[in-house]
This record gives sequence, C-alpha cells and structure tokens, in this order.
Amino acid sequence: MIKQHDGEGTTMYKYTGCPACKSKKRHFEERCKEAIKMGVAKPGFLVPLAYGERLVADPALEKLAPLGTEIPTITYATEICKDCGCHYSPMVITGKSKKQLTTGAEQAKQTGKPKIWKPGDPV
Ligand SMILES: [Zn+2]
Repeated sequence: MIKQHDGEGTTMYKYTGCPACKSKKRHFEERCKEAIKMGVAKPGFLVPLAYGERLVADPALEKLAPLGTEIPTITYATEICKDCGCHYSPMVITGKSKKQLTTGAEQAKQTGKPKIWKPGDPV
C-alpha cells in the first residue's frame, strides 16, 4: 500500500495488488489499455468499475451544522481482479470538506450557464 498526504488533510491510499491473490491484473484497467491501443481513447484514459465520493456524516446532524463546518469525505474507485474476480478499491482518498452554499451564480461560472435543478435531476 502506498500512502500519500498532501499536507492539507487529504490522504491518498493506493493498493498495488489484489488483497486476495496479490495479482496486479485488473479487468477495467486492461480494457482501458486496449481502448487506447485501438484509438478509441486517449493515452491515460482509465475508468473504474465504480467510482464514488461521499460526505461522512449523519444527515440529521449534518443539516444542522453551520456553514464552514468541516465534514470528513471519502472518494474511491473499484476494480475487478483479473485472476480471482475479487472486487476491491485500488484507490481511496480521504479528506475534509467545508459545508458551504452553492448558488446558481457559482455554478454558472463553472459551466457557463446556470442550472435550474428539478426534482429527479441527477446531482
Ligand atoms: Zn485476485
């Protein structure tokens, strides 16, 4: 396992092999290399089986916390071992996020146009 701190509270954990059989072959990673060879993806292209990021807080308490409160976060990507089929996370990032308001104006700066969220829209 490789552990890297950024000095600002974020830590990246990289696991070089399967925790069950120690193989370094991964299904999605190898498919991405094949896509690059076939010219349908740019060098460095890598998609995982799944990717997620979450705030780690009890929703009932998080909604009562004042703006500026720091909340633990976790981000991960998962893969499938090519030799034994084990699902595992080759990469996990832990950190903190400050609770803040997001306005349409801030979003417009990032995307070029404001987004009006409707019930059922993906976040
Ligand atoms: Zn394995």
